[in-house]
Amino acid sequence: MPKTIIISNRLPIKVQRSEAGLAYETSEGGLATGLGSIYKQDDNIWIGWPGTYFEDEAEQQQVTQDLAKQSMHPVFLTESEIRDFYEGFSNETLWPTFHYFSQYAIYDDSFWNAYQQVNQKFCQAVMERAEPGDTIWVHDYQLLLLPAMLRSQIEDSSIGFFQHIPFPSYEVFRLLPWREQLLNGMLGADLIGFHTYDDARHFLSSVSRIVGLNTSQGLIDNGYRHIMVDAFPMGIDDEKYATLAASQETKAKMDEYREALQEQRIILSIDRLDYSKGIPQRLQAFELFLKENPEFHGKVTLFMLVVPSRDQVEMYRQLKETIDELVGRINSSYRTITWNPIQYFYRSFPMEELSALYSIADIALVTPMRDGMNLVCKEFIASKLDKKGVLILSEMAGASRELADAVLINPNDMGQMVQALQDALLMPEDEQMARMGQMQDIVRRYNIHHWVEIFMNRLQYIKMKQETMA
Ligand code: UDP
Repeated sequence: MPKTIIISNRLPIKVQRSEAGLAYETSEGGLATGLGSIYKQDDNIWIGWPGTYFEDEAEQQQVTQDLAKQSMHPVFLTESEIRDFYEGFSNETLWPTFHYFSQYAIYDDSFWNAYQQVNQKFCQAVMERAEPGDTIWVHDYQLLLLPAMLRSQIEDSSIGFFQHIPFPSYEVFRLLPWREQLLNGMLGADLIGFHTYDDARHFLSSVSRIVGLNTSQGLIDNGYRHIMVDAFPMGIDDEKYATLAASQETKAKMDEYREALQEQRIILSIDRLDYSKGIPQRLQAFELFLKENPEFHGKVTLFMLVVPSRDQVEMYRQLKETIDELVGRINSSYRTITWNPIQYFYRSFPMEELSALYSIADIALVTPMRDGMNLVCKEFIASKLDKKGVLILSEMAGASRELADAVLINPNDMGQMVQALQDALLMPEDEQMARMGQMQDIVRRYNIHHWVEIFMNRLQYIKMKQETMA
């Protein structure tokens, strides 16, 4: 029976080494949940890197055996591959370029060589398991070359590709020395998906100007096949967040936070450490807000959670220092014996604590400079059982295309961010509830299960359509 093969850089699992041996923790991430309905069924599988370096061959065999029981197949990366393919080309070349931070991009041929080799390694891993008729779904920017590599070996299979980060405008994309190879890699797919129509439009324009192919109405004609390009805004597992928000664990945590924070109004900020998230700009806006609104001193707390990420990369280390300094400066300027304007945490939080924070926050301040989608804002919405609370959301997040009832801001506009904070803190409850209700409808309707279903249906559809157009 034909099967579905999911491929992403990381498997939805964390492997931990301890004295007792290897332990596996399955990921609670949205993608893992959504695709769980696929890869755990029948003979379907998920192929990817387990996220840890395994030197020892016996250990690799052990991991392979253990994961096979959970329908997962590991691709092992060497230390130099982790450095040059993952930290290098993926995170220091593609990530900054695709997030419009091309001034941070490193153009290095050895990174590029590693990127090609590792994509080839993934291709081999797929080929060891693929059979004619299988459906293959490749995920994200670490594997842009994989669709074409697979296509050259299994011509008539259905191949879908989804990019979870933005696709930049042609003027930015063309700065990459390997722009044409990257596009040709993606064009091995039958269906290419992005979070927003703008991303899809930017991709189509790069294809027509760099590769010279005809693109019309979201279809690319490469002379052999028609390739469909479309927007599929990713959703979350909304039920999980609503259920968690109603749970006893979350309620207990909420009581704890309430007691500690007393009558404070809470502004919540949650991100991975990343320059694309606009954390320093957000802190500066909060500082300006405090300066201009002394009546809120002692009454508002910014609860800021920064999740450690990519701390091997110099740029991220510097960013962490900038944030530490800003938080220190703002707190030392404004704090009193009984009030700290910013509660800052540099670590990750368990789900129940996140849920409690989403539930008690008056405002979620989500102001990335650029974000493919941003799931934090959708999780905040899904957790608001009483519909009270305001979302301040950057126009530069993919989610802003769906969430028109948020207070939308441009993260470069300090004055607008300060105004948004004032408006949100003063917004009448009935308006909060009306806006939240609208946004909840959207988050509920376009949830992660819906996202998986429409992508898979569209892939089937374009495959059928290719036959009639041939
Ligand atoms: N998150 C987490 N632990 C934390 C804080 C956040 O697992 O301590 C999760 C959060 O619930 C969300 C994800 O991290 O699902 C962040 O996704 P988003 O799309 O907002 O940003 P990304 O990090 O993917 O750029």
